[in-house]
Amino acid sequence: MNSNVIIIGAGAAGLMCAINSGKRGRPVIILDHASKIGQKILVSGGGRCNFTNLNIQAENYLSANPHFCKSALARFTSQDFIAMVRKHLISYQEKENGCIFCNGSSRQIVDMLRDECNSVGVKMRLNCKIQEITKNRRFIVKTNSGVIESESLVVATGGLSYPNLGATDLGHRVAAQFGLRIIPPKPALVPFTFSRGDREKFGELSGISLEAVVNCRGHEFCGEVLFTHKGLSGPAILQASSYWEHGEEILVNLLPGVDAHSIFLSNRQSRIEMKNMLSRYLPRRFAHIWCEFYFPSRPLCQYNDKELIDASHFLQRWIIKPAGTEGYGTAEVTRGGVDTDELSSKTMEAKKVAGLYFIGEVIDVTGHLGGYNLHWAWASGWTAGQYV
Ligand SMILES: Cc1cc2nc3c(=O)[nH]c(=O)nc-3n(C[C@H](O)[C@H](O)[C@H](O)COP(=O)(O)OP(=O)(O)OC[C@H]3O[C@@H](n4cnc5c(N)ncnc54)[C@H](O)[C@@H]3O)c2cc1C
Repeated sequence: MNSNVIIIGAGAAGLMCAINSGKRGRPVIILDHASKIGQKILVSGGGRCNFTNLNIQAENYLSANPHFCKSALARFTSQDFIAMVRKHLISYQEKENGCIFCNGSSRQIVDMLRDECNSVGVKMRLNCKIQEITKNRRFIVKTNSGVIESESLVVATGGLSYPNLGATDLGHRVAAQFGLRIIPPKPALVPFTFSRGDREKFGELSGISLEAVVNCRGHEFCGEVLFTHKGLSGPAILQASSYWEHGEEILVNLLPGVDAHSIFLSNRQSRIEMKNMLSRYLPRRFAHIWCEFYFPSRPLCQYNDKELIDASHFLQRWIIKPAGTEGYGTAEVTRGGVDTDELSSKTMEAKKVAGLYFIGEVIDVTGHLGGYNLHWAWASGWTAGQYV
């Protein structure tokens, strides 16, 4: 069988690329080993798909080359995706920090993409196992359901996270096969696990959450921190995890927007115990355990000046050394991937292999939490769709 364009991966990026190359009249076939399209879109945003963000900027992405994503993000904006959503009469709302979610279900986004694909004649082959990819003049893709040839091959196989939703390393293997460098992949937007000692200390806090500012390598994220039975999660922790390297510490300001030392000084003469005083600002159970391990609780009037300075310092720079992360099983995305230096930022084509394109999460472009990752999939898919 022949097609002008083969796209491997019927996820966010692959579907967007198919729609846009189909609009240009190119015969397109999408291959996917899964039995359904857009599985990660379906689970995204807790089932309501945080499909873009109103504040998209290159600063919201991690990449060895922070400039690579700029061109695609400038050419396909959040307003462009919102226009498509409106055209399909899907209702949506803005939540905090510019995040845009469906009011209904993520399925509406998948249905929209499927309808758009159908309207431009995109063919889809699901349950399709890729066995071998070669190239002479054209790409030859051998599958369990026959051999397909094409001029252009688009790799849109996503990252390694959530293998139960169909994630594989095929994209990285194809890149390596054609001599493209890979930035070592790592789980990102992922909960941290505690060391054994910290698990014993904080295990009973499982389920408790607090507002904090988490700092990892100088990158600060403000938001909820959630204690789990394994470690720490919640938006601020997930964001910090994308910057974390094994063995490093993170700093947590447990009292953001509050000057702990001033509070201690203004209660200097009080007989209130430290743990009860902290319970006014922090979950009670956390305040008690924190005192138990770091600052044995006494009436405030019994601390000397240095102790109060140390206590406030500890509260505003609580140091945690995670043992690791929960890994790809629960990571929302994968950082690293195909080195952007190998690709044209204008077309997403490999510089040294004509006709070979990489789009979406398989590339070393990783977004913050908040609709940035799906937006990268749309923008890079749209971009490649103009050229394949
Ligand atoms: C639980 C969860 C919630 C998320 N929520 C959000 C959110 O609300 N907002 C946001 O912006 N981002 C969110 N993300 C991230 C976002 O879903 C991804 O970044 C995005 O889907 C990546 O798009 P992609 O097309 O590159 O890859 P994917 O959507 O992962 O698509 C890759 C496709 O390739 C196929 N494939 C893989 N290997 C093979 C193979 N060997 N052979 C054939 N086909 C293959 C897969 O079956 C899949 O269909 C979430 C992720 C998860 C896991």
